[in-house]
Amino acid sequence: MIIKYRNKPAKIAGYEALLKRLPAHYEKRGVIQEKLNSARAGIGGEERLDRLLDFFEPPYPHLLLQDVELPDHLQIDTMMITQSCVFLLEVKNMSGILRFQENPSALHQVTPNGEIRGHKSPVIQAETAQLKVEKILKLLNFPLRVQSAIVIAYPSQIVENVPPGTKVWSADEVLVRLYNLDMPKPKISLEQMKSLGDQFLSLQQKYNPFPLAPKFDIQLQNIENGVFCPRCRLKKMDRFQRKWECKSCFLLSNDAHFEAVEEWFMLCQPTITTNQCKDFLGLSSLEAAKRLLKRMELDEIGGRRHRRYAKRI
Ligand SMILES: [Zn+2]
Repeated sequence: MIIKYRNKPAKIAGYEALLKRLPAHYEKRGVIQEKLNSARAGIGGEERLDRLLDFFEPPYPHLLLQDVELPDHLQIDTMMITQSCVFLLEVKNMSGILRFQENPSALHQVTPNGEIRGHKSPVIQAETAQLKVEKILKLLNFPLRVQSAIVIAYPSQIVENVPPGTKVWSADEVLVRLYNLDMPKPKISLEQMKSLGDQFLSLQQKYNPFPLAPKFDIQLQNIENGVFCPRCRLKKMDRFQRKWECKSCFLLSNDAHFEAVEEWFMLCQPTITTNQCKDFLGLSSLEAAKRLLKRMELDEIGGRRHRRYAKRI
């Protein structure tokens, strides 16, 4: 039974907004585009595993949690809780050849055009996650073993040099492997298993990747302001008689600025002042900025002179 579903990572929308608002020849575009590509590939691989596990009905009771974010920077792609063990799956979706290296541990990716890229070792990543989950289970008083496997999302990924004793499975075999898992005798009751699932859910921490500009060391003056047309995406809209108007596709909108303010929070700062809003949306008056911010259901922080608005969480 799935007790937590996967969400599309917020950072994907953030990278897209950043690329939209950076100048065409800005030097860091390449790095951001790569981050976006790898985040898209990552969620693509994880969703493929989710689809393959849709038909998972093993002979033992279990709970599945997708995309678990726990304290201590612990992120697990998929977690399965049973009455005798906890199983962690770490999904990899990188194109080309994936070569496991040891001493020191790393993953070398040979891309389809022959470039070699170094990545953190998924073996170490999985073992570290295993240790951290063991620690949580000990604190919560659950005597369960933790196991893990690295999952290769697509058959087109070629894997070499898998260290002995490491489980590296193709996504297509995960269902059968888990189904036939040699399950030790149950150590906890069904009620305890359910309670453990609930406790992992309550330990969930939402990692906030924003704002992105300071993370990439991008000055705010490089972020293009304005309200982009939600239909043609290319042109910025003008404010005309309390509406947004696209000169290119003639769309009229009441709320096109919502997306822009959302992007301010993703890219620039966790709060926005009336002044910043006026400049970022390209409004003619502070009054107009204030009116729009008031209608956006944001949290208001600070007194009248230093009022800032933040996203409601
Ligand atoms: Zn338009």
